[in-house]
Amino acid sequence: MNYNEKMFGLGSKRSIIREIFEYSKMRAQEIGKENVFDFSLGNPSVPAPAEVNESIKKLLETESSVLLHGYTSAQGDLGVRTSISDNINARFGVGMAPNLIYMTCGAAASLSISLKAVFDEKGGEECIVFAPFFTEYRVFIENAGGKIVVSQPLEKTFQVDIDDFESKINEKTRAVIVNSPNNPSGVVYTEETVKAICEVLKRKSAEYGKVIYLIADEPYRELVYSGVDVPYLMNYYDNTLVCYSYSKSLSLPGERIGYIAVSPKMQDAVNIYLCICGAGRSLGYVCAPSLFQQVIKNCLNAKVNIEAYRENRDLLYDNLTKYGYECVKPDGAFYLFVKALEDDAYKFYEAAKKHEILVVPCDDFGVSGYVRIAYCTSKETVLGALPAFKALAEEYKK
Ligand code: PLP
Repeated sequence: MNYNEKMFGLGSKRSIIREIFEYSKMRAQEIGKENVFDFSLGNPSVPAPAEVNESIKKLLETESSVLLHGYTSAQGDLGVRTSISDNINARFGVGMAPNLIYMTCGAAASLSISLKAVFDEKGGEECIVFAPFFTEYRVFIENAGGKIVVSQPLEKTFQVDIDDFESKINEKTRAVIVNSPNNPSGVVYTEETVKAICEVLKRKSAEYGKVIYLIADEPYRELVYSGVDVPYLMNYYDNTLVCYSYSKSLSLPGERIGYIAVSPKMQDAVNIYLCICGAGRSLGYVCAPSLFQQVIKNCLNAKVNIEAYRENRDLLYDNLTKYGYECVKPDGAFYLFVKALEDDAYKFYEAAKKHEILVVPCDDFGVSGYVRIAYCTSKETVLGALPAFKALAEEYKK
């Protein structure tokens, strides 16, 4: 073979989400967009806050081309990192410093860089993820030379099963990824869960005499409903890396902007930061987009209108459970994780498709028999889909 077989596999195997996306476009042409209820993609439906566009306009009028379009230092503009660091300290009081912040092209880059930074170059180390998990973790972990190990959740609540988690840790474990609010379940891990994870990690690190890193994947941190608190993991565990992104919190997924924050209390924090710089360099991330680094600096307290998501969540949750669907009420993100009405989630997805409802079967997320409904859609799509969801449930009752 004259090329990389593994990369060929990654590039040629279309993800089910992309497949559904293509189907959705085709079907919209056939029967009209308003008749296709597409809940497949996690693309924010609410616009970026007004501050974002205002900031872009102002920056273009007042700042130099070099600042806005030139390279920044690899770790990001110092002024931007200082503002982010101050903001983290004001919110979470962790003693962050600008030289522990590394600007990235979103959470995907933050994760790829963080994993590359901590795994042994020789390979053979493991990273635990909690099911259900964002499918790309497998790609990022394996690309960094690690092996993915899946810990199964508690039934019904989809919180972490601490006993199962503990049983998955061994001398090869190097990292654990925690994603809360979670894609695809929408669940926010409680403080009790977080404390239990961290207690196990402290005990196991001591037992094996090595650092096990906690990687907090937090693109959905700001998307929480009913005042639920999302514990900041650095306050519970010293060896924490936060992978943050503005893709969802400011509805800017196409702009590719986020950061990695290294806990100031991490063992060898400065060296780990340098590993991050090295990993970013080796992966070819020269710097995060300069214009959007500046935009972020001006919009640290801006918020998207999450009321629109909450309204969709309530409409779907209240009605679907009434029709007989089972799902945990999500406290965050914009996903509903629904038990398929038959064992095979793929067959259920096909049955839903006949009612023009497009949902994602979740076997690749590490839990079989469930589908994900991404409710980052218009309210009209949700309202239009409700009778279809009802008819689908009735079909299964027959
Ligand atoms: N992590 C999770 C859990 C996600 O759901 C996503 C995107 O959907 C990402 C990471 C990647 O996000 P970004 O656009 O910031 O790279």
